[in-house]
Amino acid sequence: MKLAAPIPILMYHQVDAAPPRGTPMRGLVVSPASFGRHMATLWAMGLKGLSMRDLLPYLNGQKAGRVFGITFDDGYENNLRCALPVLQRFGFSATCYVVAGRVGQRNQWDLERGVPQVPLMTAQQMQAWVDAGQEIGSHTLTHPDLCNLELGEQRQEIAQARLTLEALVKQPGGIRNFCYPYGSFDQGAIRCAGEAGYDTATTTVRGRVHGQPGLNPLTLPRVLVSRTTTCLHLLLKCLTGYEDRRGRQLANTSLIQAQARL
Ligand SMILES: [Zn+2]
Repeated sequence: MKLAAPIPILMYHQVDAAPPRGTPMRGLVVSPASFGRHMATLWAMGLKGLSMRDLLPYLNGQKAGRVFGITFDDGYENNLRCALPVLQRFGFSATCYVVAGRVGQRNQWDLERGVPQVPLMTAQQMQAWVDAGQEIGSHTLTHPDLCNLELGEQRQEIAQARLTLEALVKQPGGIRNFCYPYGSFDQGAIRCAGEAGYDTATTTVRGRVHGQPGLNPLTLPRVLVSRTTTCLHLLLKCLTGYEDRRGRQLANTSLIQAQARL
């Protein structure tokens, strides 16, 4: 079924004060004030921000409405401290994708690239996030590039992450939604996400969700939001074909990269 309007799923990472200029991946740290303006802008347009759990009925056409998805990758503690108050102000829900084997630790998978090491949520903090009406999703056990793993290792990373998180946090319905680290996935990873029982899996493919036919809930595109995304830019990404076109342009590039990997 074709959706009445394409649904954008926003992809954030950290929400906090900016690290010094020149810091690798600085663009993925959105200031709390900027995040607040983003949410206020979409709220003013009559749109409601939803976690993947709450968005699912809209994605599969069971419900219709002016909605968008909100996701945070990696499970940073600053999501709880800086993003939650904003979400609560507007009555929005969001999904935070946690690296199950790194709960309470730091983003050590980024170390080699010189990305500052910052705290990830503890189990107690994840529970506070859930108890505030937000959702915890899964982002594997150790944040590997899944395309570099054998099928058995992929299965372990994807399925075991769900079980690990379900043992750490009491969330109604359990851990239902997944996100591929680095947006890297192949047929094996998609299969494992399905077998592990996830309802949805998000990627870093850029674009909005256009519904059936052709919608695979295990390869959902998202809308990239960075430190420099202005409110006007965000509206273009959410309400026009801007992000969809960017996704198609980049698809040609990633196809070439995928072929180079084979
Ligand atoms: Zn990640």
